[in-house]
Amino acid sequence: MSGIGNLFVVVAPSGAGKTTLVGKLLELDPHIRLSVSFTTRAPREGELNGRDYHFVDRPTFEKMIAAGDFLEHASVYGNYYGTSKRWIEQELAGDHDVLLEIDWQGARQVEKIFPNMVGISILPPSLAELRRRLEARGKDAPDVIDKRMASAREEISHVLEFPYIIVNERFEAALSDLQSVVRASRVSRAQQAVRLSKLIDEFR
Ligand code: GDP
Ligand code: ADP
Ligand code: 5GP
Repeated sequence: MSGIGNLFVVVAPSGAGKTTLVGKLLELDPHIRLSVSFTTRAPREGELNGRDYHFVDRPTFEKMIAAGDFLEHASVYGNYYGTSKRWIEQELAGDHDVLLEIDWQGARQVEKIFPNMVGISILPPSLAELRRRLEARGKDAPDVIDKRMASAREEISHVLEFPYIIVNERFEAALSDLQSVVRASRVSRAQQAVRLSKLIDEFR
């Protein structure tokens, strides 16, 4: 990795609240840049191409896989999702913090390339509350919600693979936990050793 930006990777089952939490985090902390994924999923009501996702069709996505355009990609709930390689490399090299909202399969792939990534898992307080939130969001058809609930157990079984686990029960508390992880990562030895090399040299 050439830059010293932090790479945050947020993983959660659909409906746990990651988009809402990350949206608020970014609003309060403009130093973090959000990676906009490519997907073959159809846009939900209110979603904007280029802001929420780059929406593309399957042939286009498959061409991008073949061209090596993705840092990682995965099939999630029957659609392709992928992270642009070029964008991430540019941002990190430019010393910006970058945040990815991806599934656990993607997070595993990214960790192989960037072992210093900061993996954060978001959990709902219960499976019943997860279903309630998916239904309350009102943006997915009932069969899509069933599919997402069926995958939730599998996804939650991977939470212990990530160093930070946040339960999104009370929103403000979960947001504060997320901000704490970001702050702690910025003063971690791995980051500070590079950033403060001049200062540290002065004391040698
Ligand atoms: P969508 O992904 O486009 O459907 O939007 P979200 O579901 O991420 O968020 C919808 C709105 O609800 C946003 O304005 C959020 O800030 C707000 N919101 C979501 N959950 C909570 C919560 O638990 N507490 C508060 N105070 N606001 C919330
Ligand atoms: P994800 O991006 O993980 O699929 P969203 O951010 O879209 O999840 O959240 C799913 C739904 O749950 C949204 O309607 C959101 O407003 C709601 N939500 C998020 N966090 C909380 C919370 N702590 N308490 C209650 N509802 C929440
Ligand atoms: P949604 O359709 O609800 O926005 O996202 C569904 C799932 O796809 C979530 O688990 C989300 O984290 C995952 N996802 C979104 N973008 C990417 C991506 O670029 N790569 C991977 N691997 N997963 C993604």
